[in-house]
Amino acid sequence: MNLDQVFENNKRWVKKKLAGDSDYFKNLGTGQNPEFLYIGCSDSRVTAEDLMGLGPGDVFVHRNIANMVSGNDLNVMSVVEYAVEHLKVNHVVVCGHYACGGVKAAMQSSDLGILNPWLRNIRDVYRLHKNELGVIQDESKKYDRLVELNVQEQCVNLIKTAAIQKAFRDRGLQVHGWVFDVHSGNLIDLKIDFYNILKNIMEIYHLD
Ligand SMILES: [Zn+2]
Repeated sequence: MNLDQVFENNKRWVKKKLAGDSDYFKNLGTGQNPEFLYIGCSDSRVTAEDLMGLGPGDVFVHRNIANMVSGNDLNVMSVVEYAVEHLKVNHVVVCGHYACGGVKAAMQSSDLGILNPWLRNIRDVYRLHKNELGVIQDESKKYDRLVELNVQEQCVNLIKTAAIQKAFRDRGLQVHGWVFDVHSGNLIDLKIDFYNILKNIMEIYHLD
């Protein structure tokens, strides 16, 4: 794959889109009204729209290493604020994936420089669920489970924010936790108990 190929691909893609709908780009240029905010991993195998069968205009996307939602990360917090308050998305998805390099790195103790504070957030997830993870003997099962628990904790971090709580109250916005299985291509809904988590943490994190 070289860069010329990329521009060739783009020309072909434009032609294909216009053949299906001659106003495609005219409509795309008028604005966006996505139904989803998708927060996923930067991993090159986990392409947001592609794995959902969606296209331009359908999903507002944020990707970082290991799909983290950290309250002091101005980047992800701005994305959440903009998507929820201004674009008025009705569904916010945190999508993790099996074989996640970020989660794997957090399970090991090597010094990875600037990545250390980032991976510390995943190590915090491990600590929170130490009892459950500690009894899993099979390393790959433990790794898969940490991927799932990390998604769950990032959903909890979302639910702590004022924007999500307000949108839930005003229009019934929902938070979903998914995992993409890179080995089969399947998207798995972890069926995070959004209402119970919300109820349990509202007491502490509730904002008027
Ligand atoms: Zn990953």
